[in-house]
Amino acid sequence: MMDSVKKTTHSVQTILKGTIAILSANGIEKARLEAELLLSHVLKVRKEDLIIYPGQELTAEQEERFGRLVERRCRKEPLAYILGDREFWSLTFQVDPNVLIPRPETEGIIERLLSLAGPEARLKPVRILDVGTGSGILAIVSAVEFVQARVTAVDISEVVLETARGNARRHQVADRINFLQMDLMQNWILPENETFDFILSNPPYIPSKDIERLMPDIRNYEPQAALDGGPDGLNCYRSIVPNAFSCLNPGGHLIVEVGDGQSEAVKNILHDHGGFEDIEIVKDLSGRDRIVSAGRVRG
Ligand code: GLN
Repeated sequence: MMDSVKKTTHSVQTILKGTIAILSANGIEKARLEAELLLSHVLKVRKEDLIIYPGQELTAEQEERFGRLVERRCRKEPLAYILGDREFWSLTFQVDPNVLIPRPETEGIIERLLSLAGPEARLKPVRILDVGTGSGILAIVSAVEFVQARVTAVDISEVVLETARGNARRHQVADRINFLQMDLMQNWILPENETFDFILSNPPYIPSKDIERLMPDIRNYEPQAALDGGPDGLNCYRSIVPNAFSCLNPGGHLIVEVGDGQSEAVKNILHDHGGFEDIEIVKDLSGRDRIVSAGRVRG
């Protein structure tokens, strides 16, 4: 018997019930799911395993730790920062408040990449650049899906790059990704003037004045640098388009995520620059224009 471990009288079942009520009262929509995820995090079990032991009691220490996490969530800190990870493309990525939390709609960039590249490219040494890599999701999933690819991932912040490197090691693709500090708003200077078959980016695209109207989870916790796209939200695209043109191979593709209502403007930036063809817009699951892709003309 572990007499030294002080037990409380609160069981998993009781705690869950109480927490669901607290989270709901604080405006958290998926209160049950979040309560389960937080509790399984503290108990270090899978969420599915919680229901196997509904009567199991928490130690005082576990209950206290759990209470602190629930308080953080009630203050609208994003669940992903509290848990320390988030899934993207069915892989788990470590996240921290320095990086944007991966969004499901960003998977559209990977889907577009796979469809433009075609199945044969999966085994070829394609060159891929991820601009503003954040947690590293696009670079890392590209390296996982294209087993011979060499990937370059850039971000303005060294701290962010450390998180991305950790994620690359976790998914065993660190040896094929070159992480570099670079400001996407400047002229891109890449080692040995390397050129790429695909350039991917999910840049900051929220118009500055809209930031304060975002949900508190985002506004108060996610990095401004990953969200703010300047007065009309399009600043990054104005820098990405000419720079990407210079470092795309002929026939290579640029694939970017865009914000609500920005697809036509981004298309225009591509048209005005010239040298791009097959400019296409892809919608996300909710029917909004989300991805713009364009090929650099051949020859
Ligand atoms: N590329 C990362 C993502 O898609 C980071 C994007 C960003 O910080 N704007 O999540």
